[in-house]
Amino acid sequence: MATMTTLAAAAVPTLSAAETGPPTQPVRLRLSCQDGVAPGKNLNEKLDFLEALGVEGVEWGGGGLPRRVDEIQKAFQGRKLKTSAICAGFGGCLISEQEPERQKAVASIKEILTAAGALGAAGMIVVPAFNGQTKLSHWEARELLVKLLAELGEHAQKAGTSVLLEPLNRGESQFLRQVADAAEICKDSKSEGACVMGDFWHMTWEEPNDMAAFLAAGKRLRHVHMASRKTRNLPGEDAGDNYVNGFQGLKFIGYGDFVSFECGCRGDRKTSLTAAVKLLRDQWAMA
Ligand code: MG
Repeated sequence: MATMTTLAAAAVPTLSAAETGPPTQPVRLRLSCQDGVAPGKNLNEKLDFLEALGVEGVEWGGGGLPRRVDEIQKAFQGRKLKTSAICAGFGGCLISEQEPERQKAVASIKEILTAAGALGAAGMIVVPAFNGQTKLSHWEARELLVKLLAELGEHAQKAGTSVLLEPLNRGESQFLRQVADAAEICKDSKSEGACVMGDFWHMTWEEPNDMAAFLAAGKRLRHVHMASRKTRNLPGEDAGDNYVNGFQGLKFIGYGDFVSFECGCRGDRKTSLTAAVKLLRDQWAMA
């Protein structure tokens, strides 16, 4: 609900998952990896390694992306790999109290969205504000974000992609911590180009239930980040890494986008990434 006056009279919201319903077709795990996480001395070596593992997507940083579109398209020639999503890389802060900072963010996000669309990405990941980036009250910041998302969502849709709000853990962003909250902000923007992602690393600290978080987002969920749950390394590098409950949620909403590695690595990169892919496939099968 967008305003204080409408809050009291608000009807019980319909869960997105209830609109979506469980899928009638089996849902496939589509793995992706940030280019910086993949092992290899150069881009081609990295892509060779990912393809051999059966990884289908690559996630690129958004910094300088408009100048890299040709290079990436060439690197994908003759390969099955696709761009999964684009990770941030913009300037300014969307919900800063300072107008020039907001303008910088809007302009640079639009540029990156255009490139993201050209590459066929599901979306571009945007954090509205890290801790310390805004002096606005939560209420003012939310109203502002809803308004800006309507504009950015429309730009994204025209470019053939979406803006993906990423909730972070409280140590990084107190403004936006939970997937359901991000989904409700997107809903209030009334733009279908405004979507969300879930990062298991942040969700470990902020979500009481991973499956519930994904069900709340429903069709607005367009990307997922993977990391180990205690130290943010490759899944499996921490004892007891478990994603089954979250994967049950992804299956329930009929999630068709990518699940992407965004993490460090403690061991040998080739060995750990190979083991992480196996662990996720095993847990997906169990979900
Ligand atoms: Mg993330």
